[in-house]
Amino acid sequence: MHFQLSSEQTMIVDTVRAFVEKELYPFEDEVERTDAIPPELAKSIQAKAIEVGLYAANMPAELGGGGLDNFTLALMERELGRASYGLQMLIARPSNILRACEGAQIDEYLIPTIRGERHDCLAMTEPNAGSDVRGMQTRATRDGSGENADYLINGTKHFISHADMSDFVVLFAATGVEETSHGPKKKITGFLVDLDSPGLTVRRGPACVSHRGYHQCELFFTDCRVPAYKRLGEEGKGFDLMGQWLGATRLTVAATSVGRGQRVMEMATEWAATRKQFGQPIGKFQGTGFKLADMATELAAAELLTLQAAWKCDQGTMSDSDAAMAKLFASEALARVTDNALQIFGGMGLMNQLPIERFWRDARVERIWDGTSEIQRHIISRAMLRVHGG
Ligand SMILES: Cc1cc2nc3c(=O)[nH]c(=O)nc-3n(C[C@H](O)[C@H](O)[C@H](O)COP(=O)(O)OP(=O)(O)OC[C@H]3O[C@@H](n4cnc5c(N)ncnc54)[C@H](O)[C@@H]3O)c2cc1C
Repeated sequence: MHFQLSSEQTMIVDTVRAFVEKELYPFEDEVERTDAIPPELAKSIQAKAIEVGLYAANMPAELGGGGLDNFTLALMERELGRASYGLQMLIARPSNILRACEGAQIDEYLIPTIRGERHDCLAMTEPNAGSDVRGMQTRATRDGSGENADYLINGTKHFISHADMSDFVVLFAATGVEETSHGPKKKITGFLVDLDSPGLTVRRGPACVSHRGYHQCELFFTDCRVPAYKRLGEEGKGFDLMGQWLGATRLTVAATSVGRGQRVMEMATEWAATRKQFGQPIGKFQGTGFKLADMATELAAAELLTLQAAWKCDQGTMSDSDAAMAKLFASEALARVTDNALQIFGGMGLMNQLPIERFWRDARVERIWDGTSEIQRHIISRAMLRVHGG
């Protein structure tokens, strides 16, 4: 394993950094103030991202995507993570799970999403099923008999990010129960559902403290009819699909956390070097200088864990624990970094004249979505105990 960047990787990092600074930073304050991204701005950022070849970088090149490996993608995510979340998400990395599309789904969903003509969101979480995904109550029942019978979907999803700016959802619903050695378990199945389907209502959910301009929605399904050909993968194999394609999304959280942390640290360092109290820069006081040292050390460790997991992902050797450790450590490091940065800025850190209070708020969600810190610790410890039959 070596992390010497190739000239192509260096060029990608430089291109993304330049794009973020030129095309995204100037709009951050407006997004923060209005909690909205004007549609014309979204279109223009998307068009520029397509033009410079940054759009759908995670998707296969033969289908029109960027074809980046996971390591290079993690470098790109790190740079994108520096910017406001709502803005950087416009340089879409469509859900990897769309790579499971087959037959007519490829032309109807996968390719248009890679081209930026369609936008996806992902719905697993429900009011009564968060960490316990398998506890979901949304169900898909066959209407008729045979392989080609439609499905009728009923139930409610919440916290569905970006559904207000998407036109279809990768939905997971229960399609039955199977007996296992641990007792009965729900069978979960994936579907591709257009958000304007009859029987589906999309509504903006409550405002979130993190990531203004990036909204969560509620999805209400009432006898929503979905043709059988829109089923993603085999019936009852939704968990296998999630396992196969969604593990790497934890690396996105890890990498974007590292990037944002690095930006915050740079700002805090500059402030500590220039803000004077008692006749000297506050960075000279050990209480402040040591905070900077801790930030740099933790972010370096978070970056190494993330790049190591991404590298292993490319070798086909990444374990669930590898992804969980990267997500856990990077998101928790970001929380400490933003909190320490705010402390270094003192009262100004809390004022909305500077972006520090935003970084501090934005950091909070990273320990919750894509599996909470407790769930990541559960994944890591379960793998350790399993070795001893636990
Ligand atoms: C801003 C935001 C955007 C989101 N976007 C999406 C999205 O686009 N699509 C989607 O499907 N979901 C999305 N989610 C949902 C997110 O993945 C869940 O919030 C997360 O998985 C936790 O579920 P929960 O909120 O229901 O908390 P709960 O599962 O109710 O957990 C509450 C607390 O209990 C703890 N806990 C639960 N089980 C265990 C356990 N076994 N061991 C130890 N502790 C445990 C948790 O760690 C947590 O501290 C989003 C959430 C947020 C906040």
